[in-house]
Amino acid sequence: MKKRKFEKIYQWLSNDVGIDLGTANTLVYLRGHGIVINEPSVVAVNKKTGQVVAVGQQARQMLGRTPAHITAVKPLVDGVISDFEVTEEMITYLLNKAQTVTRSKMLGPRVVVGVPSGITNVETRAVRDATRNAGAREVYIVEEPMAAAIGMRLPVKDPIGSMVVDIGGGTSDIAVISLGGVVRSKNLRIAGDKLNDDIISYIRSEFKILIGEKTAESIKIAIGTVIPGDAPMEASVKGRDLVTGLPREVIITDSDVREAISQSIDTLVESTKEVLETTPPEVLSDVMNRGIYLCGGGALIRGLDQMISEHVKIPVHIAEDPLTAVARGAGIILEDLSNFEEVLIENEDELPLKD
Ligand code: ADP
Ligand code: MG
Repeated sequence: MKKRKFEKIYQWLSNDVGIDLGTANTLVYLRGHGIVINEPSVVAVNKKTGQVVAVGQQARQMLGRTPAHITAVKPLVDGVISDFEVTEEMITYLLNKAQTVTRSKMLGPRVVVGVPSGITNVETRAVRDATRNAGAREVYIVEEPMAAAIGMRLPVKDPIGSMVVDIGGGTSDIAVISLGGVVRSKNLRIAGDKLNDDIISYIRSEFKILIGEKTAESIKIAIGTVIPGDAPMEASVKGRDLVTGLPREVIITDSDVREAISQSIDTLVESTKEVLETTPPEVLSDVMNRGIYLCGGGALIRGLDQMISEHVKIPVHIAEDPLTAVARGAGIILEDLSNFEEVLIENEDELPLKD
């Protein structure tokens, strides 16, 4: 095939990359090298000049510690581009940084970008334009749960139903996939950040202490469970006493965290159930046989797999290295573009506008 022949030449001439532009973490897969960038999705901007001063890890360290004229912003809020220019700067930074891994090539890179499921055409276009403006020669868009499924080596192109629950920072994607397409999906704003907020509110109301987002996140990771384990767990937490205004330390337990996040977890489980309820019977029977696949950082919450499994009566598997599933999937697509054409979102210039 002529196309395949050109593909070889293109590969030689450009540093093609796959990008998982997550609400919490951004990962970049460089063709032939694997994941070369894994940084928080944060950009620090100088408000006076509008210039980007730092991206990723460096920008995150500035969060909450910046002088008045520098703000650290997350370019993606709830999985959607909140600031077009900042996103473009972020992608430019990523493309440049990826280029430094190998010697620079003659052509601009071809870029595969993951977007949340159910994104509107206007939003897809924004991602496409931002990536193009950042220097991409060609942009290929894939829905994140599809990329995650590919990253988990599920048979997405076969007439077999696969179900993916991707629990990220800002959003969770629940999707059923078959024959190269998303058959049913739901995107909800209950994910890791919401659990952190739940923990902050709970500690404020139960212990009268104010804690920050980072503290809440470390508590979640250290002692967060959705089902009681064999041994109780504890963590000491430092925060500001709401009455005295002074620092105070308290001990909280796994059962506190469980209570704090229970409502959000219930919604997540209920949403999974809802997607299953509208899944066509043949596809549903595949999912029942093959199980549900969890990925994203939220997949690591202890006991979540067991809880979902008990509620929907279907086995649940946690992806190996759940935080990199989307980036690995984008990489697999990139390495074999002509084979994965059908899983990509078509260029919306050729489609009638949705929304
Ligand atoms: P996104 O795709 O939106 O960038 P990620 O898949 O990178 O999100 O997941 C980030 C989320 O996963 C954060 O909310 C983080 O707190 C959470 N997370 C990471 N590790 C764990 C863990 N071990 N237990 C619970 N949550 C975790
Ligand atoms: Mg993600």
